[in-house]
Amino acid sequence: MIRLHVPDALAAGAAVSPAPEQSRYLIAVMRLAIGSEVLLFNGRDGEWRATVVDANKRGCRLTVGSMTRPMVDGPDLELVVALVKRGPLETIIEKAVELGVRRIRLVQTRRTNADRANIGRLQAIATEAAEQTGRLDVPQIIAPEKLDRLLDGWIPDRRLMFCDEAGGAPPALAALTAADRGPWAVLIGPEGGFDPAEGERLRALPFVTPVSLGPRILRADSAAIAALAIWQAAMGDWLTPS
Ligand code: SAH
Repeated sequence: MIRLHVPDALAAGAAVSPAPEQSRYLIAVMRLAIGSEVLLFNGRDGEWRATVVDANKRGCRLTVGSMTRPMVDGPDLELVVALVKRGPLETIIEKAVELGVRRIRLVQTRRTNADRANIGRLQAIATEAAEQTGRLDVPQIIAPEKLDRLLDGWIPDRRLMFCDEAGGAPPALAALTAADRGPWAVLIGPEGGFDPAEGERLRALPFVTPVSLGPRILRADSAAIAALAIWQAAMGDWLTPS
């Protein structure tokens, strides 16, 4: 069944008017008719069944029926990723949403070339991935910040898995199995890697766990997917009622 993310509050009997492009998708592309059912979620109220009650050229209207799933949260895992080129960045967003991260922070490092990202477009990619993958929330994409500033303001309760391509870090699975559960973030560098001074600062921070993803250099998108999968292999992957 089609799943749509909507901003509206969801409760039995509520009326929802999907955005114009969502209406077009439902009626013109998927050919839903009056009486057809879809699933709705908004990141707060769980997942609900809804019925198309009106459809015309200007849009469609839905009426919310019963709840299909109550709200749940996944692990408290963030992805911190350097601003890489648009193609791999979009892949990273989509795959990180599928792999269950709670939010995604973009960072500028000494070797990133870009200082801007189209957050609206990246957020739309995250929303589509959440619809597709059956999540009940959409991870927030946080606008780029300089790595040094991010580390200055880091709340040390959250551990940072630093994917360190420089060699010398222990294999990720071994390093994580020995580490604490609790809030975590995974850090992935840009195409040009981390500057040696950045690596040095990171390795010296008490909340950082440097890890290796193996003896080969991975591209940032492959590294992000591998790192998140290894984190889950070590720490688990679960949903808890919110
Ligand atoms: N150009 C760099 C590689 C950058 S790869 C070089 O040749 O050294 C992009 C990012 O992916 C890295 O900054 C790191 O965070 C991650 N990464 C890639 N391969 C890795 C590995 N084998 N171990 C740990 N992290 C890795």
